[in-house]
Amino acid sequence: MHCPFCGADDTRVVDSRLVAGGDQIRRRRECATCRERFTTFEVAELLMPRVIKRDDSREPFDENKLRAGLQRSLEKRPVGVEAVEAAISAIKRELQSAGEREVPSRVIGEKVMAQLRGLDDVAFVRFASVYRRFQDLSEFRAELDRLERESAPPGAGADD
Ligand SMILES: [Zn+2]
Repeated sequence: MHCPFCGADDTRVVDSRLVAGGDQIRRRRECATCRERFTTFEVAELLMPRVIKRDDSREPFDENKLRAGLQRSLEKRPVGVEAVEAAISAIKRELQSAGEREVPSRVIGEKVMAQLRGLDDVAFVRFASVYRRFQDLSEFRAELDRLERESAPPGAGADD
């Protein structure tokens, strides 16, 4: 990194520490040429991709929308807030680590379904029915009833 005082490119780190609860690294640097000291902050840049909608328009990734979708599917189901937040974090992490600048909404929907499948069968079917726009409602209803009858206590059946 160039020295902001004299422009020399030989600077060394004299001190590093975590700040902002570990989300940033603050470094003190010293210029080898003019001996001036300065501070830099390092943060992980985890940008969420923009979302490509069905009509090909783009919109910013909206975590609240994602949360609302999950909560709607999980209404009156035995799944706690922390599990929902963990699912949201997992989806965001996957999107961030993929490193794409744009991602089709379909991809996000598939990730939501994968998370719901691990959380609650009924919620999974609810979401999938809306998301995939099932044509045959009676078939969906029968599947939902079957799942509700067989629905296992939370934590059980963690087959992934
Ligand atoms: Zn300098």
